Amino acid sequence: MNARRKLWRILLPARVVAQDELRPGVETPMHDVLPQTHAVHTHPTMIDGLACAPHAEEHARRLFGNSLVSIPVVNLGYTLGIVARRAVQRSIADLTVRLRSCFFFKAHGLMVAGNILDEIRERHD
Ligand SMILES: [Zn+2]
Repeated sequence: MNARRKLWRILLPARVVAQDELRPGVETPMHDVLPQTHAVHTHPTMIDGLACAPHAEEHARRLFGNSLVSIPVVNLGYTLGIVARRAVQRSIADLTVRLRSCFFFKAHGLMVAGNILDEIRERHD
């Protein structure tokens, strides 16, 4: 069984409300790697403009410092989940990264994680 099929066999029964016609979103594995309780994933115009710009990571680092974990451009779904998991693990080992709760996806968008919604809203803003 390939890794993608194995992943879906795990994810499908994990739905809060098991409905045969619905399945978890393609980015669910990415959210699952986070230690925080909640994650908000958005594609704000200003962030996407930055994320799609040449040298996006350099500009993001200049604006936000080490509060961002940068995720490279990869295929969505399983591949993104694996790449995000590795980035989170590296950021936890890297003591120069301050928050480990703001994820900058090159050519994609932003994800902010936290344990309470107000915390996420503040970080997202
Ligand atoms: Zn997205």
